[in-house]
Amino acid sequence: MTSPESDLDATPLRMRKALGRFASGVTIVTTAESELDDSVHGMTANAFTSVSLDPPLVLVSIANRAKMNDKITATGRYGVSILASDQEPLSLHFAGATERHDLVRFTWRKGVPLLEGALVHLSCQVTDSHPAGDHTLHIGRVDELWYDDGRPLVFYTGSFRALELQTPDEAWGF
Ligand code: FAD
Repeated sequence: MTSPESDLDATPLRMRKALGRFASGVTIVTTAESELDDSVHGMTANAFTSVSLDPPLVLVSIANRAKMNDKITATGRYGVSILASDQEPLSLHFAGATERHDLVRFTWRKGVPLLEGALVHLSCQVTDSHPAGDHTLHIGRVDELWYDDGRPLVFYTGSFRALELQTPDEAWGF
């Protein structure tokens, strides 16, 4: 017989609720077998983090059941587009929640597709992939990056938000 769930148990639902209180940006992760728009696959991800500055490394955590996981393994490359506050519809599209093909426009950097209108573009080569539970961590070396100023799209407690603050130029920053 299983014991009743306590309010300290790390169940999947409670993990989702607790970690949803860690505010994040929103990215679209992309990969492609060739440099043709037709071969691109994209998906929305917020399990993205900076890993190292020198060498420049990032990671994305992709569900094993997501199509993206096998595609990144096959291509050995991925792009990360950090979304601007007006790109919520794209985020929903690449999560499979709505269909907005009319908004999808790719630009290419180092053979990697990225989303037009994003705040940041990173083109990455996979250096390591680590299975971790029901996800896989794909560490990528950043070959090329581009960024612009603007307001980021924010995800917090399961909802999209926008920051009410200064532009990076006005803000206290690193
Ligand atoms: P699909 O579900 O088949 O594709 C996703 C969508 O992208 C489809 O609607 C498809 O039409 C569209 N699409 C794909 N390629 C193209 C293209 N070339 N042109 C136009 N449209 C295209 N999951 C994780 O594993 N890790 C995360 O960190 C993560 N974070 C998330 C954060 C948020 C805010 C949200 C909303 C979802 C997150 N997800 C995350 C869930 C993930 O986005 C979905 O499970 C997604 O559907 C998985 O995509 P897939 O690779 O299985 O492909």
